[in-house]
Amino acid sequence: MDYDLIIVGMGPVGAMAANLAGLWGLKTLAVEKTESVYENPRAMGFDHEVMRAFDNIGLADAIAPHVMPYRASHYLTTQSRLIKRIDAAKPPYVLGWAPNYVFSQPPVERQLRANIASFTHVTVELGTEVLAVEMQDNLAQVQVRNRSGEFRVVSAGYVLACDGGTSPIRAQLKLRMEDLEFDEPWLVVDVMLKEGAGGSLPTTNVQYCEVERPSTYVVGPGRHRRWEFMINPDEIPTEIAKPESIRNLLSRWLDVDDYDIWRASTYRFHALILEKWRNERIFFLGDAAHMTPPFLAQGMCQGIRDAMGLIWKLALVQSGIASPGLLDTYQQERAAHVRQTTKVAKEFGLIICERDPVKAAERDESLLQRMNSVPGGTVRQSLIPGLKNGLIDDRSPAGELFPQPMVIDRDGVKGLLDSFTGQSFRIVIGTDFDAHPLLEQLHLRLEGSQLHFEVVRLTVEQPTHSADPDQYHELDGILEQWMHERNCKIVIVRPDHYVFGGACTTEEALALFERCLASLAS
Ligand SMILES: Cc1cc2nc3c(=O)[nH]c(=O)nc-3n(C[C@H](O)[C@H](O)[C@H](O)COP(=O)(O)OP(=O)(O)OC[C@H]3O[C@@H](n4cnc5c(N)ncnc54)[C@H](O)[C@@H]3O)c2cc1C
Repeated sequence: MDYDLIIVGMGPVGAMAANLAGLWGLKTLAVEKTESVYENPRAMGFDHEVMRAFDNIGLADAIAPHVMPYRASHYLTTQSRLIKRIDAAKPPYVLGWAPNYVFSQPPVERQLRANIASFTHVTVELGTEVLAVEMQDNLAQVQVRNRSGEFRVVSAGYVLACDGGTSPIRAQLKLRMEDLEFDEPWLVVDVMLKEGAGGSLPTTNVQYCEVERPSTYVVGPGRHRRWEFMINPDEIPTEIAKPESIRNLLSRWLDVDDYDIWRASTYRFHALILEKWRNERIFFLGDAAHMTPPFLAQGMCQGIRDAMGLIWKLALVQSGIASPGLLDTYQQERAAHVRQTTKVAKEFGLIICERDPVKAAERDESLLQRMNSVPGGTVRQSLIPGLKNGLIDDRSPAGELFPQPMVIDRDGVKGLLDSFTGQSFRIVIGTDFDAHPLLEQLHLRLEGSQLHFEVVRLTVEQPTHSADPDQYHELDGILEQWMHERNCKIVIVRPDHYVFGGACTTEEALALFERCLASLAS
């Protein structure tokens, strides 16, 4: 076997998968048929879960110049009446990061790719195309053609098809996408404001719920701004995307001298999901497995969650720590999450895309009433679900995302908790719990096992120099409060930060731990 893993395609999802494979020590080949990143931004927003993942691979500082917290979104009627607000949650942030960000995709993708160089066991081949994948001798055999036109066959334990919405591997295998029934034509225009221009533009993101032409305005980092316009039935996409037509559409907000058009593309916003996310040793991730209308800014986020949810499982299976059955949980967990998120994105789309004046007026009244009954506005992150099935226990808080508090350790080092524990299995123990009996038993249980659990013991005061190294004091009380609200004193957390389960007593925690080990072995 040449590699543990071959990753096909290095869009944001493949590049993230390559970084995570590096983090988990998998010998990996990542191939991309083009020579450089796609220079036109598509995704513009991502959320705190993705930012946490970027930070886990050491990328947060490098991408900071191209990323900015997401502003609130206001939904306006034709008469500019505010009918819905989506706000970002206020600090302190539950996952350690602002709930949502805007970003410029090409420079962030460049940093994602550059970061792979920090993992010596990950090889990247640009200008190399995968032509076919076949199973032979219990391995995946991948036929590639490099930039010089030379062909070779490379073998791997697993292949990740991160080859985008048109996925040639999916097509080769004739795998079916289920249509979740959304299909609307939109024009997307990115502009760079000229120095000093744009002072009268809205300071929030705006959904213009106007029956004549629904449209969206997004404030990007620096001078980057985006408009998205629904294309009317009597319009021709190639015509509306022409510069003079774009200038005409933008004239409501900007003078022609205020901006340069970065790019303009027309899309049909679809909702699709792959029926089978795995074919023998091939797994599908990102747009190759699902596509969602962009109204929740979740398409790329979902692909990055795919990588976060799969790579640690592949690493445990490849090293013999977990049974191959663990890999079946990939689709169980991810498909349910994608379906639910796509459902919400579609609901948003249907609100925004309403063209019937009578129905639009009804919509406006109902949204207005709802907004008035929730004065703080909807919090965007409350719309994203946790895990409902797969490798999780059966009671709350199983499947929730584990918070990430700011902590201080016994040496006085401050940081987000992940920077101390990494992407590990964790046993987190609250302040008001005598941990010794539990830890003794766990130690005995894991003796001789390759499976590693990081222990995190929360302390009421900052631990002293002589305290055990697993003791941390949290600075904002986020985690203690979270555990208190869920009535648990011990939490088992998976490497991708989803909670396996919670417990209140030593006995319950030991039983939970046994269920976790059994799930990994089955
Ligand atoms: C208008 C618009 C707005 C969006 N906004 C958002 C947003 O705000 N937030 C968000 O999260 N998502 C958003 N999305 C979705 C997001 O852009 C995509 O989900 C994401 O870019 C998909 O990434 P990917 O890596 O799966 O696929 P891609 O980026 O398509 O990458 C696939 C890669 O595979 C390569 N490849 C293909 N075949 C082969 C082969 N045989 N051999 C080698 N290489 C191959 C391709 O060259 C390509 O580089 C938006 C999408 C659109 C269109």
